[in-house]
Amino acid sequence: MRDALRIAHRTTALLLALAAAVGATVTGASAEPGAGKDVPDVAVIGTGGTISGVSTNRVSFQDYRSGQLAISKMVDELRPEVDGLADVTTEQFGNKGSGSYTIADYRRLTASVDAALKKNDAVVVTTGTDTMEEFAYWLDLTVRSDKPVVLTGSMRPWTVIGTDAPANLYNAIKLAASRKTTCYGTVVMLNDQIQAAREVRKTNALRMDTFDSGPTGELGVIDQDNIRLHRAPARVQKCGRSSWDTPFDLDTIDDGPLPKVEIAYSYQDAGGEAITAFAGGGADGIVTAGTGAGGISPAMSAARTEAVKKGVLFASTTRTGSGAVYGSSTATGVIGAEDLTPQKARLLLLLSLAATEDEKQIREWFSTLGTAQFVTR
Ligand code: ASP
Repeated sequence: MRDALRIAHRTTALLLALAAAVGATVTGASAEPGAGKDVPDVAVIGTGGTISGVSTNRVSFQDYRSGQLAISKMVDELRPEVDGLADVTTEQFGNKGSGSYTIADYRRLTASVDAALKKNDAVVVTTGTDTMEEFAYWLDLTVRSDKPVVLTGSMRPWTVIGTDAPANLYNAIKLAASRKTTCYGTVVMLNDQIQAAREVRKTNALRMDTFDSGPTGELGVIDQDNIRLHRAPARVQKCGRSSWDTPFDLDTIDDGPLPKVEIAYSYQDAGGEAITAFAGGGADGIVTAGTGAGGISPAMSAARTEAVKKGVLFASTTRTGSGAVYGSSTATGVIGAEDLTPQKARLLLLLSLAATEDEKQIREWFSTLGTAQFVTR
């Protein structure tokens, strides 16, 4: 029976993804939690950030305490609007700034999202925007379900005039309830824009249109009642197949601390001390944020050569914000992280090192996992 339900769900998921890819309106219920009900089940997991912030007064846009309001209270304020869209339940995972979470917390968050997806049709996670792109990419790499996972937050706290907080939460629930991003992996929804976890980045410290996906562009937009998807992550091609899952099943990875991976930034005449210290401090991997197509200073390069000899694996990225760094195809201890930003390459290297010691395999994951390239015949 479980298998039958799984096949039915996979089939529904595939149809939803294909329909979404061609822009069709999807109706019809999935074979799982929301089956037979008028509205789907959506769980909203709160972690804090500006979206749950309380301002000093109604115009203190940047002077506020983040992580104050409970997610249940925020959703309750939207009940009149969301009740017709979804049966919404809430879970308070935490209530603090995004930058305060640890990798161990991330691991627990994946477990919470996976558990919520077993009982619901989709999940929304609210986080601070500062490291939302890291939350999103982590979940994209580790959540085992192909049901929609939508991250949202806000640039203005809930309590100022002109806040984007309730609108973003409402739109995220609406997007999740539509199930249009089934098989997309994790997506980010802010400022009416839907972005892919692997590509999105915060590009401005203060503006509300801060999230941008660079050359690949946004996935789509929400224009009031219209959810428009212009494109899909290439991962939808694997929808309904076991290859859709990433290799990072945290249930099969040791409970202990995950590998330690740090980031070293290059600039004119940068010293090698950071790399030497990271390697000496027990780093298993180091990501370099290089100039241009991954270049690092001579001192950093010398320090890297020494660290590689000690078994530290490097991923090379660019500090420019876009473009790619390609590596050699032979095992050299340095992998080209292609178009991943330093902070996302760090998460992929960390999970890769947790899953294998095979540099060739890790190199392959860097150039194939979730990349924006469609396979054409
Ligand atoms: N400091 C906040 C955070 O990332 C900023 C935000 O939510 O926009 O938690």
